[in-house]
Amino acid sequence: MRIDLHTHSTASDGTDTPAELVRNAAAAGLDVVALTDHDGVGGHAEAIAALPAGLTLVTGAELSCRLGGPDGFSVHMLAYLFDPLEPELARERELVRDDRVPRAQGMVAKLNELGVPVTWRRVAEIAGDGAVGRPHVASAMVELGVIETVSDAFTPDWLAGDGRAYVEKHELDPFDAIRLVKAAGGVTVLAHPLALKRGNCVSESAIAELASAGLDGVEVDHMDHDDATRARLRGLAADLSLLTTGSSDYHGSRKTCRLGEYTTDPEIYGEITRRATGAFPVPGAGG
Ligand code: AMP
Ligand code: ZN
Ligand code: FE
Ligand code: FE
Repeated sequence: MRIDLHTHSTASDGTDTPAELVRNAAAAGLDVVALTDHDGVGGHAEAIAALPAGLTLVTGAELSCRLGGPDGFSVHMLAYLFDPLEPELARERELVRDDRVPRAQGMVAKLNELGVPVTWRRVAEIAGDGAVGRPHVASAMVELGVIETVSDAFTPDWLAGDGRAYVEKHELDPFDAIRLVKAAGGVTVLAHPLALKRGNCVSESAIAELASAGLDGVEVDHMDHDDATRARLRGLAADLSLLTTGSSDYHGSRKTCRLGEYTTDPEIYGEITRRATGAFPVPGAGG
């Protein structure tokens, strides 16, 4: 069984539509794929309708969180198999998603001040129906020839957390996220916790506190973790009785990672599905 528990579609900042994503996942030889768009579930229905026979879809989302209050830093919380209609969690997702619009407009304004002629109109076009984020702004910069690749925007010069054109967005408290996802019958896995190149990393003591608050697992095998980091996280997860996952964090052509580049152990996948009560994995009927 090949299981990839972290992917993005055009419902956020990926470039495959949800239908393309599930077809590509089947073509990549996956048996299970989770659709985890940033702060939203807008891609699930299309993915389910297009699900090829032999592929199972795990519904999910990647929730933007902020650890340590206003002076803290961003962490991403993967949430699986929660009830998408549970009102409190749905409202929190909406608040984060809605705030992404003025935030992206703010980044466009800062880029304009820096002499980069990106327009909100073009960024909004690129984002389409998806939750707008920095990769969309970065794509507009690539089009203008300001930078070569989307990744080049994530530097102090541009849109990194300490970047000249960076603007913060509303984010959830990760402890609230854990509680809300659980209340909606879902399971939480802290995404790429020790991805150094993204700036600040979660401390081991913070992971321990999140575990005490009910965090289910940590993402270990991820392109942003080197071998030493993975070994360290695996040790920590064993100490804290956390599940460990592996996943591609596929974004279509906006990132270099391939579907199924990293995968999750079937036993751990089984445990995630046993813990979840908000939704069930959807087996493909061959749509
Ligand atoms: P946002 O949610 O708008 O703050 O944007 C965060 C997204 O930017 C992440 O989900 C990644 O997909 C992408 N991202 C973060 N760092 C990088 C990087 N160094 N290179 C390419 N994409 C990145
Ligand atoms: Zn993303
Ligand atoms: Fe992430
Ligand atoms: Fe992601």
